[in-house]
Amino acid sequence: MNYNKYIDKIMMAFLRREEEKEVKEAKRYKVPEPDDTDFFPTVTKSWEELVNKYQPSPWIDGIGFEHDFMTLFNAPQGFPFKRIYCNTDVASDLDFIFEDVLRLGLEKEFKTFDGCFNIRKIRGSKTKYSLHAYGLAVDFNAATNRMGTAGDMHPDVVDIFTACGWRWGGYFKRRDPMHFQRAWNC
Ligand SMILES: [Zn+2]
Repeated sequence: MNYNKYIDKIMMAFLRREEEKEVKEAKRYKVPEPDDTDFFPTVTKSWEELVNKYQPSPWIDGIGFEHDFMTLFNAPQGFPFKRIYCNTDVASDLDFIFEDVLRLGLEKEFKTFDGCFNIRKIRGSKTKYSLHAYGLAVDFNAATNRMGTAGDMHPDVVDIFTACGWRWGGYFKRRDPMHFQRAWNC
């Protein structure tokens, strides 16, 4: 067999295996990513909405933003963290989300809380700010859910967030499985 053809064959087999792996992974999550975001009337859907809703922008007047839009969320008993400093919109959702997590006995799936409010740009972007800058994104279990990996987030946890209108970073093109955000096309 010609050497190049041999390499091609190995490459094809590798790509096929990768594809199969991705299909299998996508099937793990029962609640698919909804494409009709009107289903979640309260969730922020675009950059325009974000910019209009949260004024002053956190990087222009951080103190003004925090005063108007940030709050301290108290986690219920059973989680390895007590408080999350987050957007008031996030706090009201987390009440429902953590209630569901407890109801399904999934609190042990939360190992660490790894950040919410952080005025910074999206990794790799020079202009666009991260939803963390608005306190609208929350990271969990960072140690085993690094950017670019499939991670080990429990599918039921992903489903609970998705059912509440949140978007999981594991669905991003550039996977970020530790990340959940309360916004869509942002
Ligand atoms: Zn994040």
